[in-house]
Amino acid sequence: MNCLFCKIASHELDAHIIYEDDLVLAFLDINPISPGHTLIIPKAHFLDLAAIDQPTLDHLMMVAKKINIVIKEKLNINGLRLVQNNGFFQEVPHFHLHLIPHYQEKPTYSLEQIKSLLKQSI
Ligand code: AMP
Ligand code: ZN
Repeated sequence: MNCLFCKIASHELDAHIIYEDDLVLAFLDINPISPGHTLIIPKAHFLDLAAIDQPTLDHLMMVAKKINIVIKEKLNINGLRLVQNNGFFQEVPHFHLHLIPHYQEKPTYSLEQIKSLLKQSI
């Protein structure tokens, strides 16, 4: 299957990975709404919220909670959105969660800085 996020999950394509385990991968969004904008995907292909199985979704939410804690600790945020798009709203047809930080003042972190700050703490 020619799926972008399946290729990232299998390491066929590069991404700024901050967390990986047997079931999921988390990496920085290539076109971030704000610094630290993170995507969490299952390694197995599921289209959307209707398609994903419950144990995989539960695991993704557990990882989202973990990453939320680290983002709050390491980046000076004042808010965070958890977003999941389906159908009309969904650009990449492989299930993913967005973690989107908000800052009082736009920070100057580079992608590499954010990657190493988060990666070593999750
Ligand atoms: P959605 O509308 O929820 O499907 O959003 C898809 C997200 O994937 C967007 O925020 C894109 O910037 C992001 N994206 C697309 N291609 C890549 C990529 N190769 N690496 C990281 N993020 C990507
Ligand atoms: Zn896929």
